[in-house]
Amino acid sequence: MFETLSNRLQGALRTLRGEARLTEKNIGEALREVRIALLEADVALSTTKTLIETIRTRALGQEVMATLNPSQAVVKIVHDTLVETMGAACDRLNLATRPPAVVLLAGLQGSGKTTSAGKLARLLRERERKKVALVSVDVYRPAAMDQLERLADEVGVVFYKGSPTESPEVIARRAVDLARREAMDVLIVDTAGRLHIDETMMNEVRALHAVTAPIETLFVVDSMTGQDAVHTAKAFDEALPLTGVILTKTDGDARGGAALSLRAVIGKPIKFLGTGEKTDGLEPFHPERLASRILG
Ligand code: GDP
Repeated sequence: MFETLSNRLQGALRTLRGEARLTEKNIGEALREVRIALLEADVALSTTKTLIETIRTRALGQEVMATLNPSQAVVKIVHDTLVETMGAACDRLNLATRPPAVVLLAGLQGSGKTTSAGKLARLLRERERKKVALVSVDVYRPAAMDQLERLADEVGVVFYKGSPTESPEVIARRAVDLARREAMDVLIVDTAGRLHIDETMMNEVRALHAVTAPIETLFVVDSMTGQDAVHTAKAFDEALPLTGVILTKTDGDARGGAALSLRAVIGKPIKFLGTGEKTDGLEPFHPERLASRILG
């Protein structure tokens, strides 16, 4: 992720290095390049504007102009501003509740929900030694239920089976009861997605939220959909009290705009990055590391 952005940003900032001192003019020129680089990486226009203005104000500050190595100072400003845009700290999954801590996954079909459910279960079981159960309430696609059952088996966690003839809420309620009875630490609920946002889908996921009372409601989104990822996130955020985002398929996304815009637009942290199709392809999101990677 971010290969193109990284090259262009580094190029834009390198031109400043040749300058004996920073002026409004040469900072302006470099920032024009930075702006193009961000837009080409599919960062939302509003986010790009805010980023550029913040960087400009800070770069033109007295202390920066007076430093011995002003171009280095500007690189640091860009770095810090990128980190702030993506969320200052690494936002961990919050499981601090009376068990079972329910994690509800919502998103469009094909976004990577089921895969992410399996990955998250593995991560919690292996790294945090949690007792995890998975349930699928996708009664419209029995194949999706089977897929999650196979994943549960593969990563060695419990699977609560529902039937396509039941309602999603019935399956979800039973899974919460079972998880409580069987002393599970975490119950991950994989919901049905549709190809496009519609009212029926939103009503269903809202009802599931009411039934399961999740401590985490994560929006799963395909990073490769760029600006669309941000639009969909907005719609879900209006319908549901989201607590965070899982940004998937970052391994195939050379631009990375969604990672930069999502936090700024919906105000919710990205908690994980999906980095491949296998069950070990999920990483906690570290804004600091990503910004450093972008700036090389
Ligand atoms: P769902 O409909 O939202 O449950 O989506 P799936 O979990 O079935 O994923 C849709 C497709 O995306 C599958 O082919 C997955 O293997 C693939 N996929 C999911 N997450 C990732 C990821 O992080 N990287 C890559 N490369 N593929 C992914």
